[in-house]
Amino acid sequence: MTPEPDIVIIGAGAAGIGAARRLAGSGLSILMIESLPRIGGRAWTFKTPVGTVDLGCAWLHSADRNPWTRIAEESGFAVERRPSAWSRQFRELGFSREEQDAAHQAFAEWSERLATNPPASDRASDALEPNGSWTPYLQALSGFISGDELERISAKDYVAYDAASTATNWRVPAGYGTLIASSLPGNVEVHLDTPLRSLALGGTGIELQTSRGPLQPRAVILTVSTNVLSGDTIAWPSALEPWRDAAARLPLGANEKIFLEIVGDSPFVPESHVFGNPHDPETGTYYIRPLGSPLIECFLGGAGARSAVADGKDAAFARAVDQLAALFGSSVREYLRPLAASEWRRVPSIGGGYSHALPGQADARIALARPFDDRLFFAGEATHRSDFSTAHGAYQSGVRAAEEAMHALLPMSR
Ligand SMILES: Cc1cc2nc3c(=O)[nH]c(=O)nc-3n(C[C@H](O)[C@H](O)[C@H](O)COP(=O)(O)OP(=O)(O)OC[C@H]3O[C@@H](n4cnc5c(N)ncnc54)[C@H](O)[C@@H]3O)c2cc1C
Repeated sequence: MTPEPDIVIIGAGAAGIGAARRLAGSGLSILMIESLPRIGGRAWTFKTPVGTVDLGCAWLHSADRNPWTRIAEESGFAVERRPSAWSRQFRELGFSREEQDAAHQAFAEWSERLATNPPASDRASDALEPNGSWTPYLQALSGFISGDELERISAKDYVAYDAASTATNWRVPAGYGTLIASSLPGNVEVHLDTPLRSLALGGTGIELQTSRGPLQPRAVILTVSTNVLSGDTIAWPSALEPWRDAAARLPLGANEKIFLEIVGDSPFVPESHVFGNPHDPETGTYYIRPLGSPLIECFLGGAGARSAVADGKDAAFARAVDQLAALFGSSVREYLRPLAASEWRRVPSIGGGYSHALPGQADARIALARPFDDRLFFAGEATHRSDFSTAHGAYQSGVRAAEEAMHALLPMSR
């Protein structure tokens, strides 16, 4: 490893790659270290015997202003602009048209209350209708959107995302993870399987201890998740307590995916969707044969995702098959086989799905994004004020941190 580069980027996820792309051509020497044996972090297109699946990010959210859309187009990746099937319940199975209308109305009214008459507590659950019959449905949506129960979600933070989102969602058929991983500039020195073990602040520079030895850069761009920053896998100096405290107020929720292979001549229609059980806050939501592929993607959030990891993959596959059998009839069991499942919560260098602010803590994103002493710059999805929890927010945060580092190290760029 080059022991004294100008900048070390910790983490090869979307934020680290955004930083590396912005620094390319700056004249500063950069080196990237990554704990995992692959590039991409929570962007991971995984090969299965029947095609690839995105275990992490899959949708270009706010796609019409998402920098990854431009990068995809510039680098020759196809972008699928067909609208998602999320809002339609296939053949109204287990969720009648009237019920769907009522559930969507309950969500719209709750969202409106959050935006126009937010609860003084900043607790998103305090905007629920008392004893509302669609509360379990709204809790399930909170799991998918924020990874946690509404009692633990800041209304202000939720609204900031919602107001900035353009609600345009596109896909990259080759895989969002493939796009992100292949976007790291080829000339960046990257060391995979190289966890940072400790970070110390010397007189002027920064001292890093990694599994492959020490590094002494002039500056560091830190992109690790909030659970890693607030946890104990890395030894931190006490001067970083305010940043670790901010990270603890922006925990990762729980989000996981389970994929089932479809075999034989099944009744599953391409690009269709079912909500498993709209009355169960732990339900999965099922995207059937996305882009025609022979599989079903089950998305879990909050309590449902926590149970999937705690109970193990076999139990999670069985629960997904049971839920589909309850909707389509028991005969569909013969067409379904376990294919792949994520366990983001168990990956020590990640620790969960994506960040949300706890009630009253939306401003922690601003606190987390502040540089330390023109030497240490913070990036990662959680540092974005409105596009947090996404791959494009992560990318933009990396670009922002890279510009801060350039201003600090290259006075001419001020
Ligand atoms: C199930 C799921 C579905 C999602 N769906 C979408 C979606 O459809 N669209 C969307 O936009 N977003 C989605 N997201 C969110 C998106 O994937 C993330 O917001 C984004 O990828 C985060 O990028 P990042 O660079 O901030 O963090 P990360 O990807 O976590 O990158 C940080 C990197 O730092 C590394 N690291 C940690 N500790 C160390 C250490 N000690 N030393 C060295 N390296 C270390 C980690 O291994 C990791 O690779 C989803 C996430 C999940 C989990």
